[in-house]
Amino acid sequence: MAQEAHGALHDLLAVRGVTRRDFLKYCGSVAAMLGLSETMAPQIAAALEGAPKLMPALWLNGGSCTGCTESIAQVDTPDVATIVLDYLSFEYFETIMAAAGSWAEKNITKRAEEGGYILVYEGSVMTGQDGNTLFVGGGPENEGAKKGIEILEEAAANAAAVLAIGSCAVDGGWIAGYPNASEATGVAAWLQKKGIKTPVVSMPTCPVNPEWVVAMVVQLLLVADRDPAKFLQVTPMVEVPYNDPVTGEKVTLLMPKAIYGQTIHDNCPRRGHFENGEFVTELGSKEEAMGYCLYKVGCKGPQTFTQCPVTRWNRRASWCVESGAPCIGCGGLNWVDNNSPFLKRMSDMRIGDTFVQPGTIGAAVGAVAAAGLVLHGIGMKAAGRIGDGPPMEEMKAYDRKRLAKKGGDK
Ligand code: SF4
Ligand code: SF4
Repeated sequence: MAQEAHGALHDLLAVRGVTRRDFLKYCGSVAAMLGLSETMAPQIAAALEGAPKLMPALWLNGGSCTGCTESIAQVDTPDVATIVLDYLSFEYFETIMAAAGSWAEKNITKRAEEGGYILVYEGSVMTGQDGNTLFVGGGPENEGAKKGIEILEEAAANAAAVLAIGSCAVDGGWIAGYPNASEATGVAAWLQKKGIKTPVVSMPTCPVNPEWVVAMVVQLLLVADRDPAKFLQVTPMVEVPYNDPVTGEKVTLLMPKAIYGQTIHDNCPRRGHFENGEFVTELGSKEEAMGYCLYKVGCKGPQTFTQCPVTRWNRRASWCVESGAPCIGCGGLNWVDNNSPFLKRMSDMRIGDTFVQPGTIGAAVGAVAAAGLVLHGIGMKAAGRIGDGPPMEEMKAYDRKRLAKKGGDK
């Protein structure tokens, strides 16, 4: 069986023009994303090649732009990550599957009854108006139509694990931005409210990086032998406390530490210019082309915990900051409200009762970064390496109202 699978994977790779060398290189980067030594690459390759049967999976969409699907599916030439995902047995993948209608929807119920699958969830959980803000299959008057929240609950209850991919699935993403009329929220908070105990791995950024998703799938299928308990044991996680303003749930979001354990700023190639006090003050300027730091044009890299500079994007071609755009912090929580206006240097970060830089980070890790940055800034200022600091600024009026109304992150 292993030999057949080996042949099948190699046929698939060969047809797509992927060499064995590319494949091993890819396995090395999966190892790095899993926090393992790159010397584990041959073991990961052997595990992939020898997998007797891949786990069934459902890919559901809540309130989403389908950008996370696009991120994975729309590559000009399929790369190794895409091929590995091809190798999964997706029994429902709304955006790209050919089947449609009530018969396709029945696949979800059938698989949910049988169990033993991964649920990949993209998009926000639309809870507004008792869940009527998202219906699949028409409105309530149509037979077989279901609310998005019902489909999520049905599919999550019996799954081995849920991968909540993209910021929408983590905390509602931009759909949950003020005034959040559809009361969009994230998967972990909603399942907790409903008493569903399936482990949820939260993977923010907008969209999610496909290679991170593949790394987690590999980890669950191969390193953890499809056992969610073992998966949580062998995958170091950052535990991010989050006070969800929609459900009122205090939830601990689990994010893979190898991906979400360091800030963008920690690994940024422009970091040397930050240290030297060399900043871009105007987009399109020669300083931007020279690779100067983008902090003064709004970069949220210092408080955003993702591994973007390491994995990079679009088949590792580049990423936001490298291409000259400030990080807008899409890997943070409540990122649209907290980080807008995106291209302005932030000045209202709160530490304790004091507002010093960007708004609510929503996580203890953010507070640590904030404190570090402030201390760093104090040091830089003391050393005379930077000029005027950010102006002190009151909290945005709409944030104040929203927080008072929802009792959210304080
Ligand atoms: S996280 Fe971003 S890309 Fe993914 S579905 Fe939501 S809005 Fe679209
Ligand atoms: S502020 Fe942004 S551009 Fe500057 S070093 Fe940090 S992450 Fe890089």
